[in-house]
Formats: sequence, structure tokens, C-alpha cells
Amino acid sequence: MTLAPNDDRKELLGHTQDELRQFMAELGEKPYRASQLYDAIYRRRLPSFDAMTDLPKTLRRILAEHAIVTRTEIKSVFRSSDGTRRFLLGLLDGSEVESVFMPEERRDTICISSQVGCPLACGFCMTGVLGLKRNMTAGEIVSQIIVVLNQVYGEGVEVPHRTNIVMMGMGEPLLNYDQVMRAVRLLVDQKGLAIAPRGVTLSTAGVVPRIYDLAREEIRPRLAISLTAPNDELRNRLFPINRKYPLAELMEACRRYPLSERERLTFEYVMLDGVNDSDQHARELVRLLSGIRAKVNLIPHNPAPELPYASSPMDRILAFQKILTEKGLPSFIRRPRGQDISAACGQLAARHQATA
Ligand code: SAH
Repeated sequence: MTLAPNDDRKELLGHTQDELRQFMAELGEKPYRASQLYDAIYRRRLPSFDAMTDLPKTLRRILAEHAIVTRTEIKSVFRSSDGTRRFLLGLLDGSEVESVFMPEERRDTICISSQVGCPLACGFCMTGVLGLKRNMTAGEIVSQIIVVLNQVYGEGVEVPHRTNIVMMGMGEPLLNYDQVMRAVRLLVDQKGLAIAPRGVTLSTAGVVPRIYDLAREEIRPRLAISLTAPNDELRNRLFPINRKYPLAELMEACRRYPLSERERLTFEYVMLDGVNDSDQHARELVRLLSGIRAKVNLIPHNPAPELPYASSPMDRILAFQKILTEKGLPSFIRRPRGQDISAACGQLAARHQATA
């Protein structure tokens, strides 16, 4: 169903149980109806009131007059040979964002967006080429998981195993802090989608003041830092935001970030051929991260014709990793997923074709 833009029915996704109680009260309904509604929307992922057969028919009709579950619609799905699916999603104002579904044997990971476009303009990322259009609402952020799981497993069908969420799609989540945190709290609610709190990872290019805010939250996602450069000279070139929050400040925020037992901060390091991948860079990285409980994800660069970078060859990545290992810094080489459908890290640009 395509909605007219002047449709002012309330979008229920993105609202807490308390807010739904308020909404139901305004319709003259009892609080337990709000609990049923909350359960139907988040736990059972029902997309329409028709399907909520535990609610009386008249109430379902009244709800449909005043509200909709979500306005996010799937425009296209691109399937990779490795099982990854890229979802092009349409929001009510015509904006488009992307989510990526990555199945594994015992869990799925969904990579979600937090902004339409991104203002950070990191030199090696396609989303940065788009610029920022606007922030996403908490409802839009959460709706990505609902529509993706419904498309993959069927509407309202229980998922067979755990779902992890990574906020590594389009946008800088810490520049949309309030809506992102509201979405995180909804995702981990045991009465709702019931994502494990340790199964939500937020990745940031380094918005330092918001890292301190995050450290004070009661419910915190896991934190990943997009580092990619071990010194300011190089990082200033790749990440404009580094001029505002240089490495010393970013590392200080990381050092102070509270970690639970056995938890490590993740540092993402995109391997750029001839740019940040020398033995010297590896040693600098070890020094930079000394004293921080860290692990490093080495990410081969995913190319796009618009980007002037190439991935380091695998033998270089292995040599780089060897230095980290010798110095006792744990690291993992990430297997790119969905490259053939422009679904891999840094390739999300709301493309309407499978590939660039
Ligand atoms: N703004 C957030 C989240 C989006 S980027 C952040 O910067 O962390 C998510 C991850 O993709 C980051 O680790 C980023 O460094 C990585 N990335 C960006 N462009 C890439 C590319 N072309 N190839 C591989 N990884 C890329």
C-alpha cells in the first residue's frame, strides 16, 4: 500500500509501551489493550491491525483510522551469492535508506541505517558522497528490523535463532543520538523484539562528546570505533571529523568507556592499499591502542567507482595482522559480504541496481 503524503495517521512503531497506553487511553481503551498492541507490533511483528485477531473487530477498525504500524516499505531486495540481502527501503517523505541482512548458521545479523545519507564525508565511504538528508526517527530505525525479518521469515513468524544488530549502515548514529538510543531501548526490550543487549553494536567515526554520553547510559550497545588511521596526519585526510575530535581526545574517551568483564572495544580498520597498510602503520596502531582493552577488525576496502581507493591485497593484510598478533593485539580479518550487490560496508548509497 502506498500512502498519500498528507496521511496524518500516527505511526506506532517507535513508541514505548507507556506511550501506547497513553494513545489507547485517548481512544478510551483500557491499559491492557496497549499491552496487547505492544506485543503485536514488536514481539509478533504484525504489520497490520487486521492480523491482530486478539483485539475486537471494532477496535481494529478504530485503530486503522487513527494509526498505522509503520510507513517503511520495501522498494527492492538484492540478493548476493553469499546469502546477504540488501534492502532498499522507502520512507514516507520519499527518502531511501538501506538495511542489509546477513545470515549465518546460528544467527542473523542485520545492519541498519541511522540517518538518510551521512554528513561525515569520510573519503573512502560511498554514503559520505551523498551528504546528509535528514535524521531518521526511532520508528524508522526500528522498522528496518521488522520489515526485514518479516520479508525473510514471513510476517509474524518466530525467527529460528538470535538476531544481532549492527548500526553500521548509512549515517553516523552518534549524530542522531536521542532517536538512536530510543531505538536501542525498544530493540532490547524483552517484551518486544528481545534482541540481546550484547547483540547490538553501534559504530562511530568518533563523535567524542556523545561517546561520553553513551558511557553514562543504563542500556548501552557495544561500541565500535571506525579508526582506519593510526595517526592524526592520515586520519585528518580520511575523516574530516578528526579535525574536530583528534585521536588523543578519541582515545581518551575510549580509555574511559566502561566495559563489562571480558568485553573489548572494537576498532575497525579499513585496509586501504598503499595508504594505511604498512608495517609502520601496524606498529603505530599497536602503540595507539596500548592500555585499551581492544580488538581490531581488519576490513578489506569495498570499492566503488566513485572512490579513489583500493583494498590492500590479502598478503599485505596478513602481514599487517601478523604484527598486531606478535604484539598481543587481537585482530580479525572480516570477510566482505554482499560485495556483488553493493551491500558491503561503505557501499550503501541507495542504489537501485544490484551493483555500481
Ligand atoms: N558512521 C559510522 C557507521 C557507518 S560506517 C562509522 O563511521 O562507524 C560502518 C563501517 O564501514 C565503518 O567501520 C567504516 O569504516 C566502514 N567502511 C566505510 N566505507 C568502507 C568501504 N568502502 N569499505 C570497507 N569498509 C568501509
